[in-house]
Amino acid sequence: MNTEHLRNEIEAVFPFIEKPKGLALSFHKDDCFQCGYLRDELEQYQGEEIPPEAIREIHQEMSCLSAHGWCWALPSYLRFCITEEAKYNQMETEFLIYNLAPELKHELETKQRLSSLNQQQILCLIHFLEWCQQDEHWGQYCPEEISSGIAYLSTVRA
Ligand SMILES: [Zn+2]
Repeated sequence: MNTEHLRNEIEAVFPFIEKPKGLALSFHKDDCFQCGYLRDELEQYQGEEIPPEAIREIHQEMSCLSAHGWCWALPSYLRFCITEEAKYNQMETEFLIYNLAPELKHELETKQRLSSLNQQQILCLIHFLEWCQQDEHWGQYCPEEISSGIAYLSTVRA
């Protein structure tokens, strides 16, 4: 999976979508401070495509986004991860890998967050991790998380 192929696949299967409104954006609704905080932080981003600053805002908070929130964020997030800029701000890619390779106790919630993605999109996430596996930095840095993410997503896809 070279970068060119991955970019084409992301563009084909992850079109930009409208931002989910209000409470629909977050994983928890009224009763969670952290999710409320993220909703407020993201108020300034109302477009379908979100800029790198917004990805920096959410990369540690992806567990606060609902399934629809993930559908809104991933098209921009994945496109960002394959840019040159992402090589200099590596935290975003690192956290996406971790978010796709949940510990056992987080598998169920992760599955809920991935539940609005279609089969092609799940497959594209697997291809993203395969691309990370081949990357000279990521393939050395966190090979176990990448492998466990691929195995996990394969169960989500089944
Ligand atoms: Zn929450």
